[in-house]
Amino acid sequence: MDGAGRFAPSPSGDLHLGNLRTALIAWLFARATDRRFLLRVEDLDRVREGSRQRQLDDLAALGLDWDGEVLDQSARLEHYEKAITQLRDAGRTYECFCTRKEILGAPSAPHAPDGAYPGTCRNLTPQQRREKAASRPAALRLRSDTSSYTITDLLHGTYTGTVDDFVLRRGDGTPAYNLAVVVDDGAQGIDQVVRGDDLLSSTPRQAYLAELLGLPIPHYAHVPLALNSEGKRLAKRDGAVTLADQQALGRTPTQVLGVLAESLRMSRPGEIVSPRLLLERFDPAALPREPWIFDDAAAR
Ligand code: GLU
Repeated sequence: MDGAGRFAPSPSGDLHLGNLRTALIAWLFARATDRRFLLRVEDLDRVREGSRQRQLDDLAALGLDWDGEVLDQSARLEHYEKAITQLRDAGRTYECFCTRKEILGAPSAPHAPDGAYPGTCRNLTPQQRREKAASRPAALRLRSDTSSYTITDLLHGTYTGTVDDFVLRRGDGTPAYNLAVVVDDGAQGIDQVVRGDDLLSSTPRQAYLAELLGLPIPHYAHVPLALNSEGKRLAKRDGAVTLADQQALGRTPTQVLGVLAESLRMSRPGEIVSPRLLLERFDPAALPREPWIFDDAAAR
């Protein structure tokens, strides 16, 4: 088996049905293309006690299996530093002393899209840098030489998005999400990234960074999210949204898998399905292109 897909949850709480649905789709994509399926725990910030194990248990309860050991980002700090060194040696980094407030208040650079870092600290003199460093720890940013990058997505087609001088390491020393994802996807041999479409806009940054680091750019599929009945992203307050919540209502994991499969138009209401059966039915072209509206009241 060449190549691998993955699911990379942040252990900040229990997975909700939208996350589980994305995990199921990622598993289907990987298995349907004869790839390994790897798990990575993105625990560089916002860790909730016990979350990691419950997330793994929930995936297993649905019948999703994975290959090899689970990778924890917190155990990989030296690898992120190595990538930073590589970029620094290539003249691709600079220290940034801006607060969030300063960035929001700064006039945006000409041609820079909203939300892009305006480059305030890009060309500080050594003297200015020393002065600022005395009062504040520096974040490290990428010195990007483009303002956009185009990727190809299995569901979205060609997608062009912003690449600014994004953060590689935060002021508190934590490696930034975009850096860690790219380094780890490269190290794990991941060539298929299936995840929620809320991350589509980060993807040009990640693909550009992979290129700078000499890593292959994976295939991407960004899948629609689960929303509540008001069209907002599904959250804890939306009722019985976790597997544990559903089990408390008397639903078995198999029944929950059935609900997820039905939301993907891969099963009939009430039908008993297994991941293996869904694999036989899986057709990426037939995946719903619109968000899944989860209405707990209707589900009960
Ligand atoms: N850890 C991220 C999340 O839970 C996903 C990162 C990724 O799939 O690249 O939203």
